[in-house]
Amino acid sequence: MDFTVPEDLELIGRLAREIASKFPPEYWREKEEKHEFAEEFWRAISEAGFTGVVIPEEYGGSGMGVQALLTVMENLSAHGCGLAGTWYLTLSEVFVALPVTRYGTLEQKEKYLPKLASGEYEGAMALTEPAAGSNTFRISTTAVKEGDEYVINGSKIFISGIDRAKVMVLIARTTPLDKAPKKTYGLTLFLVDLPNKAVKVEPIAKHGINYSNTCEVRIEGLRVPEENILGPENYGWYVLLDILNPERMAFSIGAIGTAELAIRTAVEYSKTRDVFGVPIGAYQALQHPLAEAYSALQAAKLLTYKAAWLYDTHHKPPEQERVRDPKTIMERSYAYREVGSVANMAKIVAVENAIKATYWAMQVFGGYGYARETHVERWWREVNLLRLAPVTQQLALNYVAHHVLGMPRL
Ligand SMILES: Cc1cc2nc3c(=O)[nH]c(=O)nc-3n(C[C@H](O)[C@H](O)[C@H](O)COP(=O)(O)OP(=O)(O)OC[C@H]3O[C@@H](n4cnc5c(N)ncnc54)[C@H](O)[C@@H]3O)c2cc1C
Repeated sequence: MDFTVPEDLELIGRLAREIASKFPPEYWREKEEKHEFAEEFWRAISEAGFTGVVIPEEYGGSGMGVQALLTVMENLSAHGCGLAGTWYLTLSEVFVALPVTRYGTLEQKEKYLPKLASGEYEGAMALTEPAAGSNTFRISTTAVKEGDEYVINGSKIFISGIDRAKVMVLIARTTPLDKAPKKTYGLTLFLVDLPNKAVKVEPIAKHGINYSNTCEVRIEGLRVPEENILGPENYGWYVLLDILNPERMAFSIGAIGTAELAIRTAVEYSKTRDVFGVPIGAYQALQHPLAEAYSALQAAKLLTYKAAWLYDTHHKPPEQERVRDPKTIMERSYAYREVGSVANMAKIVAVENAIKATYWAMQVFGGYGYARETHVERWWREVNLLRLAPVTQQLALNYVAHHVLGMPRL
């Protein structure tokens, strides 16, 4: 075992820290309060090449893997940006650039990857539906073939960044659940160019992360050409896992980075605040919860990078000529279990302890922790989302209980 961080990751991490220092917590407080997209930040991370970390060099990216992307996210989040350091990159890179890189046809790669790499295109992914919730197999958005097009109808909920995205990965049923030989069959991923009159979006007022909109979506008579299917028709579940697992890793590292930022901020304050003749940081009542959470976050970090390492090295994408071949995709499915197990365990520990860390960081600040100007309440609101999304803690625990421990299902 070798825990040395490779030089290219050191370098990209350092660059991320430099950029983060130009977008301090005050910048994000303003963006959050004004409900404004962080244009300057998006430009800076695009120019630094962060929007193309996982995109091959021939399409304008740097051809690195998920480990490199997480390194960027961790450093941006931990050095001033909070969850924003992870959020925007997840919407474009994890949701769209990564699956197009792995499963896209040559035409799809040429059309989308250079624009995603340069930051000209932002992305989104529409999976969740009001009636299906956590049960992806119950989605009822349907895509029906008419000639060489698909006509799509349905509704989606909580779709982040769709109001700005130029391309979205849309998950629909091409075979109804009651006609599918097994529940994983019948899902298909489509690349949809936006904006489109057939896709109506309405932002949802929300608790945090207001530098990005999350929307309710109605899709009525959307026509998508057949060539915009991503991966094999009806076998989209396996392509989708290649989005959902890195999404768990991204938000684990985002939670860890944000929590480390909150802990560092609270520790600094705790050295200067004196109410009974000693700095409050000397009280074990404040030290122990922060030390416990910090330790667990370091363990979660190892798990998160292990998941990314497995994904980059053990879970290779199909050869270009076989990206639409169901048999190839199915054969490789053994690797999803390995990646999924570690990614879910990482997410469980990272999020639980990021919430604990930000909660105790607020406690260190006393009443000032409730004031917006000290930032910790914002970071607490940010990591609080991650109990619910991208997967709820309960569903991630179910995965570990069923697939890792082999416990019976209901
Ligand atoms: C701000 C925000 C941004 C989001 N962005 C996106 C996005 O960009 N794209 C997208 O597709 N989705 C997005 N989502 C959706 C998110 O992934 C879902 O909200 C999440 O998967 C949970 O689904 P649900 O809200 O329908 O909860 P439900 O599935 O209704 O769950 C409700 C509660 O029941 C529990 N529960 C349900 N089933 C079980 C079970 N079997 N065992 C134990 N407990 C169970 C859950 O853990 C949860 O506590 C976003 C959500 C939010 C809030």
